[in-house]
Amino acid sequence: MSHNFSKDDLVEILKSSSTKLFESADRIRKEYKGDFVHLRGLIEFTNICKCNCLYCGLRKDNKNVQRYRLSEKQILDCVKNAVKNKINTVVLQGGEDEFFTSDKIASLIKKIKKYDIAVTLSIGERSFEEFKAFKKAGADRYLLRIETTDKELYKSLHPKASYENRVNCLYNLKSLGFEVGTGCIVGLPNQSIESLAEDIIFFKEIDADMVGIGPFISHPDTPLKDYTKNNFDLSLRVMALIRLLMPDINIPATSAMESVQPNGRIIALKSGANVIMPNMTDVNYRKNYEIYPGKICINDSAEKCALCIKSKIESIGRKISETKGFRTDNT
Ligand code: SF4
Repeated sequence: MSHNFSKDDLVEILKSSSTKLFESADRIRKEYKGDFVHLRGLIEFTNICKCNCLYCGLRKDNKNVQRYRLSEKQILDCVKNAVKNKINTVVLQGGEDEFFTSDKIASLIKKIKKYDIAVTLSIGERSFEEFKAFKKAGADRYLLRIETTDKELYKSLHPKASYENRVNCLYNLKSLGFEVGTGCIVGLPNQSIESLAEDIIFFKEIDADMVGIGPFISHPDTPLKDYTKNNFDLSLRVMALIRLLMPDINIPATSAMESVQPNGRIIALKSGANVIMPNMTDVNYRKNYEIYPGKICINDSAEKCALCIKSKIESIGRKISETKGFRTDNT
């Protein structure tokens, strides 16, 4: 049974410390999504970004990052690794890097689709025409986190960016037939509980197919370096509420959750999540893709990451899905 909550209800639950929420979310996950966990192989193919998001270690003004772009061959090698590890979706994730024109991305998508796997893009805001070209080339999903629906906060965190354009991008992606993933950061400086409740309502309103929640982790090379606080519990609460409101969507147990809490991804899987994103990026580059510090598995090979997470999933009685993990795939 799915739930309906008013904004006041959501605020009250977010402020409470009861653990019943997690049990309910786990029950709903089981009822709607079964015991299967979908794996998405993450390929961080460029850490070059024209944006300056205040919370992000890859922001343009951070000169302490060793920048890289993977070649097409290097990206396809990561894809082959994912396929070898029986991962049926890859997520091409990168900064907003203008080197990767829509033609380059479309050509890459076509090559990846030859492996008969699903392709998710996570490359930031693009025009309607570009999204259309990606869809035509065979991309299945697009991940674009709204980060916060508090417009003032959004503006203060994203210099020169437009909140309205981001929302438009999400609607454009939906209209083109992508499965759309979004999400927010929990625990941002000046973020209220009320605005988190509004984030949750927004995800439901746009009928997101996937929602990822990341606890805010301050990066020492960003303007937000002094905001240190562990936001794991609140993030878990937001995530569990999303499961109650949107019982059939895909919800990842994010790596950021594990960065702030030992075994954080397993705790998340037991509190409503049903997706894990093992890192398939070449280990020589992974340490340079540091959106936030303390990232897990930076020295582990793709094989080791896949094996490790599979055994953790099985240890809690869950199974690895062999499907491509669409919203309607429950096996
Ligand atoms: S969050 Fe994304 S868009 Fe913003 S600076 Fe980091 S990589 Fe660039």
